[in-house]
Amino acid sequence: MVMHQRRVRSWHGVEFDIKIINQNWAKLGILPPHPQLVNLIIRKGLERNKNIQMQILHEFGHVQTFPFVFLYYLPLYLSAKLGNINNWFVATLGLFFFWEMVAEIYVFFKDENYINAYINNLSLYTVFFWVIAVIFIVLPFVW
Ligand SMILES: [Zn+2]
Repeated sequence: MVMHQRRVRSWHGVEFDIKIINQNWAKLGILPPHPQLVNLIIRKGLERNKNIQMQILHEFGHVQTFPFVFLYYLPLYLSAKLGNINNWFVATLGLFFFWEMVAEIYVFFKDENYINAYINNLSLYTVFFWVIAVIFIVLPFVW
């Protein structure tokens, strides 16, 4: 069963459905369903419809920022910080959190009530997630 579904068209010209299957799973186009762990954490406490609306924007944000998100590796590559497999692992973990942040920045710009949604419903889980995310985003640069 699909909780919500929206047809979108990315800047790459790809048209597909974003399906929010439930609080835990989403599906983009022909890709297999994937867990919604980050959404689950950062949307904790938000009203259900707002939550779903933001999840859809967030998923679309991931698509819209592809492949530019891989520019995250560029300064690391140029500064020769990707010398071994451990550094690649740390950098890829950083990329994961960076992509989550960029997708969420997309939500911020597309949802005019973004701040208001969080003002009265900010969960400690959300705050904790972003603290961890920033640490992992910065880590490869200071590793
Ligand atoms: Zn995400």
